[in-house]
Amino acid sequence: MLNYDLPLYRPPSEAENLILQVTLGCSFNRCSFCSMYRDKSYELRPLPVLIDEIAKAAQLDPDLRRVFLADGDALGAPTPYLLKILEQLKRSFPKLQRVSSYAWPLNILKKSRSELSDLSQAGLKLVYVGIETGDDVLLRIIKKGAHAKMHGEAMTQARDVGIKVSATVILGLGGREYWKQHVEGTTRLINETPPNYLSTLQLGLADNVVDEFQQRFKGMFVWQDDDGMLLEQREILKALRPSKPVIFRSNHASNALALAGVLPKDQERLVAEVDAVRAGLKPKRPKWMRGY
Ligand code: SF4
Repeated sequence: MLNYDLPLYRPPSEAENLILQVTLGCSFNRCSFCSMYRDKSYELRPLPVLIDEIAKAAQLDPDLRRVFLADGDALGAPTPYLLKILEQLKRSFPKLQRVSSYAWPLNILKKSRSELSDLSQAGLKLVYVGIETGDDVLLRIIKKGAHAKMHGEAMTQARDVGIKVSATVILGLGGREYWKQHVEGTTRLINETPPNYLSTLQLGLADNVVDEFQQRFKGMFVWQDDDGMLLEQREILKALRPSKPVIFRSNHASNALALAGVLPKDQERLVAEVDAVRAGLKPKRPKWMRGY
């Protein structure tokens, strides 16, 4: 329907929604584990082109309710540009309920509270934030460009103005050497500044970033196997005591085990499900059914 500049990525939960490619690439584009936009330069797509695409989409489905703004961090775009797009979406889709996007945490922090509030009022209702880990040592190694406190501040600032936050953590990110501090830092961050949604995925690396990723560990990176990643999953779930309910999912195709629940209410059941798989009482998702 629309002309996309490939590759195009979106969160699993946006599969049924309109993907509007307002920017190309990622404004940061340096995380050592991420290969998604290595071949793209960050740029804004021209407003007249986007307005035309919105009109075409509205002709096909005027009752559309949800839109995802691609690519990697649409929030890197200037606020007036984003407001024009959000206003156009609102005009074109009378039943619109939610606009969402990925957001590099620093791009949230670069916006003032009043800018974030304007975006929320204009329809931006959800941001997907890759926090990856709450451990500052690991965040530096993987070149995330932010430390844990900044991730916490970004999530809080978004939530304060009515933008929900969906945070992602990568199991296995620290390998066998750093897994304990990965778990400790991550649970601390989530407990102190809970997102609305939390999901975990298992580390996977595209061929073109494997060397760079491992070099950052000074050649000491040892992969966690499924059991190690499930142990990380278990320890994270067990230690989470968020002050507000967090909807938890591990439904990403990379995971050995798909889980769903609300924390802290379902904590015991979720831990028991992980234990059952680790004890061999329930099967893991076969490797051939996984993807990244
Ligand atoms: S901020 Fe996100 S999209 Fe950009 S390089 Fe890092 S992980 Fe990839």
